[in-house]
Amino acid sequence: MYDIIIVGAGPAGLTSSIYGRRALKKVLVFEALSYGGQIVNTLKIDNYPAMPGVSGFDFASKLFNQAKDLGSEIKFEKVIKIEDKEDFKLVTTNKGSYKSKTVILASGCDNRKLGIDGEEELTGKGVSYCATCDGAFYKGDNVAVVGGGNTALEDALYLCDICKKVYLIHRRDEFRAEKATLDELKKRDNIEFILNTNVTKINGEDRLDFIEVTDKMGSKRSIDVSGLFIAVGKIPENENFRNIINLNDSGYVETGEDCHTNIEGIYAAGDVRVKSLRQLVTAESDGAVAAMEAVKYINSRD
Ligand code: NAP
Repeated sequence: MYDIIIVGAGPAGLTSSIYGRRALKKVLVFEALSYGGQIVNTLKIDNYPAMPGVSGFDFASKLFNQAKDLGSEIKFEKVIKIEDKEDFKLVTTNKGSYKSKTVILASGCDNRKLGIDGEEELTGKGVSYCATCDGAFYKGDNVAVVGGGNTALEDALYLCDICKKVYLIHRRDEFRAEKATLDELKKRDNIEFILNTNVTKINGEDRLDFIEVTDKMGSKRSIDVSGLFIAVGKIPENENFRNIINLNDSGYVETGEDCHTNIEGIYAAGDVRVKSLRQLVTAESDGAVAAMEAVKYINSRD
């Protein structure tokens, strides 16, 4: 029997494991893919206090090693079901079943899709959801970024340094991104803003050839690009526990700032839960809070 099972080895989950281990609890972390969560796709983190400019990959690696060195067990298995068995929680993965006194859901978010023709077929063949992972393949090319949040604008900035020309396509004429990032982007001479416009079709046989965009008035335009970077937000990864946990209309786990879910002994931390600010620093803060709530719950029952 574990004390704390954590679903997800991103910043929230790994921070929970650190706090759990420092309270001398037996901790198991499950990760379906690779550790670090979305932060590994960020080239340079400029808003993490006291560590300006740290690379997302270095940050995630340090966090992972810290969790491991403190004695967290980490298994690369996909959680498929969580059951509340009154005295314990039963967590089932693609490889087995595990008992735990508490569970912390820290499964984060996945990329939102545009849901348009050509998107699925050309993903990995010109269509990407990660500029810092794939941008280097498009050196000297014309590319487009779609979205108006921090990710889209940061992706566009990054691509401006590598590519010949970057089109930033956004469905409104206002951005959600931080103003400082927008101001920085406006200084570049190889960016073209295409506003009040949606990408409506992605064309190509074996590789992306051109995209079709449609503005608010219904006018269509074709743009030749070899890369399209889609950065239109995230959707919470909740399919493995939506049967027992209360979610809001957008699919985020309903909790208060204490990270408690509707089930005693199950907590949610980081991007997967209802939050007003989804940042590295707030995910880690949740991780600490959820772990300490789990520890309190375990100690009160031992
Ligand atoms: P986001 O802030 O939710 O922005 C998503 C953008 O995509 C919005 O501009 C939205 O348009 C647009 N969009 C959504 N669905 C669309 C669709 N179907 N078609 C076209 N456009 C669509 O997402 P994000 O940029 O991935 O950021 C996620 C969170 O991480 C945010 O809280 C963000 O601040 C944070 N983040 C922070 C940093 C940093 O601090 N350095 C870096 C990256 C991300 P509308 O604006 O019209 O809704």
